[in-house]
Amino acid sequence: MSECLFCQIVEKKISAKLVQEDEHTLAFDDINPQAPVHTLVIPKRHVSALQDLGMGDDLLLARLLISCTKVAALKGVRESGYRLVANTGRDAGQTVSHLHFHVLGGRHMAWPPG
Ligand code: AMP
Ligand code: ZN
Repeated sequence: MSECLFCQIVEKKISAKLVQEDEHTLAFDDINPQAPVHTLVIPKRHVSALQDLGMGDDLLLARLLISCTKVAALKGVRESGYRLVANTGRDAGQTVSHLHFHVLGGRHMAWPPG
């Protein structure tokens, strides 16, 4: 069994509140939401972080971003606005080493981020 938490969600060994799924990507609500809308979009394939993607992953990256925009529409924040975040590495506070985009919305968000 995979030791990666998000791989286990992909394998349905850990339950999550699914928002959207296709052949290559999965979207599920964050267990500790930081905004009224807080959904994570991940590749089904294990990728540790953004820097592990190369030019050959162009289609996967496009699929992930399009999945984020679909989540925003499904969650009703496409017009009001939303923020995509990919915490990458220690300084950014990445806690799960499986690439994920946070889709955050439903409230005003400050800039610059903390
Ligand atoms: P990051 O800190 O950017 O690596 O984000 C990891 C995110 O995964 C955090 O926002 C956590 O709340 C979230 N998370 C951790 N475990 C789960 C889980 N079992 N289901 C859904 N989200 C989770
Ligand atoms: Zn993984």
